[in-house]
Amino acid sequence: MSAPNNTYDPVRVAALAPAEVDRMTREAVEAIAAAGTLDELRAASLAHLGRHAPLTLAGAEIGALPPQARAEAGRRIGAAKQRVAQAQAARQAELEAERDARVLVDEVADVTLPWDRQPAGARHPVMTLADRLADVFIGMGYEIAEGPEVEAEWFNFDALNFPPDHPARETQDSFFVAGPHGRRSGMVLRTHTSPVQIRAMLSRPLPLYVVSPGRCFRSDTLDATHSPVFHQMEALAVDEGLTMADLRGAISAFVEALFGPGLRTRLRPDFFPFTEPSADVSMECHVCRGASALPGGAPCRVCKSQGWVEIAGCGMVNPRVLRACGIDPGRYSGFAFGLGIERSLMIRSGLADIRDTIEGDVRFSRAFGVEE
Ligand SMILES: [Zn+2]
Repeated sequence: MSAPNNTYDPVRVAALAPAEVDRMTREAVEAIAAAGTLDELRAASLAHLGRHAPLTLAGAEIGALPPQARAEAGRRIGAAKQRVAQAQAARQAELEAERDARVLVDEVADVTLPWDRQPAGARHPVMTLADRLADVFIGMGYEIAEGPEVEAEWFNFDALNFPPDHPARETQDSFFVAGPHGRRSGMVLRTHTSPVQIRAMLSRPLPLYVVSPGRCFRSDTLDATHSPVFHQMEALAVDEGLTMADLRGAISAFVEALFGPGLRTRLRPDFFPFTEPSADVSMECHVCRGASALPGGAPCRVCKSQGWVEIAGCGMVNPRVLRACGIDPGRYSGFAFGLGIERSLMIRSGLADIRDTIEGDVRFSRAFGVEE
C-alpha cells in the first residue's frame, strides 16, 4: 500500500492556482457582461459555467490535490462559480427586462383606436346651405321644384323674355350643346335656375309657390369670385293679387331666417328680362350691423365697409313671361327672387374665395362640421 502523496505540490495543478482561478472568473464575468442578447448570454454561460468551462475543468482537478489542499481549492472554485452564476443571473434579468420593454414599444397597439369604422363623411357646406335655404321657404309653404341641367334654349332664354340678341345668349357667356355637324342643338347648360319657374308654371296648378335650388353653368373663368359651375336658388310665387309688398315680406322673412333677426333689407332698381319691375336685394351687413366698421374702427371685410351686402335679385314676374306660360296676367301676378348659394355661403361664413367651395379639400368641409 502506497503512502498518501504528501509530496504533491498544489502549485503544480496550475488551473487551481488562485491567480488562475481569478483570471478565469474575471474572463467569465466579462464575457457574461458583454453578452448583448439572451442568445449571446446563453452561449457565454455555456462556455463559462458548462461541463467544458475552464472553472468546471479546474474543479475536476481537485481530486489530484493532496487532501489538505482540497478543501481550500474546493471553496475557491465554488466561490468563483457562484460569482459567475450571480453575474449570469443579473445579466439575464437585465436582458429580459430590455426585451420586455422593447416588445412593449414594438408591438404597441392603441386599443382605443376604432378598428371597425369608416370615417364619417360630411355633406358639402354648399349642399347643406342649399337645404337650409330651401327649408326656410318650405316653412313658408313653398314646394321644391326641379328641372334638368341640360335645358332647352326656349326654357332658358325665350320663355324668360330674353331677346334674341341678349348678350347671355353669346357663347362667351353660355355653354351651348353642339348638335350634329357642329350645328346648334337648341340645348344649353342652364345658366340659371329660372327655367324651372317656366316648367313649374306650365305644369302645376295655380296658385303656385315653388322654390328651385340647383346647379347652373356659365362660361366664366374660375377666379376668386367666379366659377363656371355654381348653385342658385329661386323662389317663385304666382297668385291673385300679389304685389311688391308680398315680395318684400318674403325677402325679409328669408333674410332673418338665414342671417338673424332685425336685419333691414333694401331694394334698388335693377333689370332682368323676366321680371318687371326688377330690383337687387341688399341686406344690412350681418357682421357690422350696417355700421360699415367693426368695434374699434377696423374696416368690415364682409360688406367692404359699405354697411350693406348685395344678396339677391328679385322682381315681379314680367307679364310676358306669364303669358308665355299660358297664365292670364290680368288675373294673376307673381314675384320671383333668386340668389347664388356659393355667394350666400361666402357672405354668411366670411369666405374670400369661391374656389374654396369647389376644390374638394375635406379640411374646408370639416371646418363647417359634419352634418348628415
Ligand atoms: Zn359690414
